[in-house]
Amino acid sequence: MRRLWPWSSRAEDHLEAWIAKRHQERVLAGESNPTGPCPDEAFLRGLARRSKAIDIADPRVDHAASCPACMSRLLILRSEYHSQQRKMQVAFAGAACLILIASLIVVPRFMRHSQPAIATTAVISKTVNLWDVGTVRGQQPAPLQSVLLPAARVRLTIILPRFSQTGQYLVAVTRNQSGTGVVAEGTATSVLKGGKEVVSVELNLAGAKAGAYFLATTHEQNQAAYYYPLQIR
Ligand SMILES: [Zn+2]
Repeated sequence: MRRLWPWSSRAEDHLEAWIAKRHQERVLAGESNPTGPCPDEAFLRGLARRSKAIDIADPRVDHAASCPACMSRLLILRSEYHSQQRKMQVAFAGAACLILIASLIVVPRFMRHSQPAIATTAVISKTVNLWDVGTVRGQQPAPLQSVLLPAARVRLTIILPRFSQTGQYLVAVTRNQSGTGVVAEGTATSVLKGGKEVVSVELNLAGAKAGAYFLATTHEQNQAAYYYPLQIR
């Protein structure tokens, strides 16, 4: 409802509060004549929290407003109700504060974690052909001059050397030929494609610095590891 004199609303509120206070004082001093019996605690409690279930025309409202015993009980219940509400507000504010703090901690972490993922969502497919590598007994494996992998997530398909066994392979990119300094690794079972054993793994090289590495393939049953020179650009 629109007030005609908005400037007077505060003054009106003050006046009402003053009248209510004067009335309270008079009632508590026993200067009023309550009619009817005292209502029960549940009714006073409802009145204290201005429950919508209570009809203002109920004669018990009139009684409570003019009975010193009901009025003092009402004032206690009202302050209890208000302090409960304050506690709830504090608890709510506390919970909101915790949520805010948590989001301040979690969100940047999530962003930190998700950003590299977003930057490297694209998986680059690469194929390394080792078919003709080290086929002659006693011969050093031929340098893999063509193996150049990007510093990104790579779906690496390796055509394993001739006579390679079928089975599960551990494919790793390592810093040295002893198998230590693993940059990325993946496991997959080889499949026969056109008479050649082929293994395909996803390697996350997004964090790798450009330089010389080794591509290691280890057959999980016989633990034979082979290292091939590799460049990450
Ligand atoms: Zn009463």
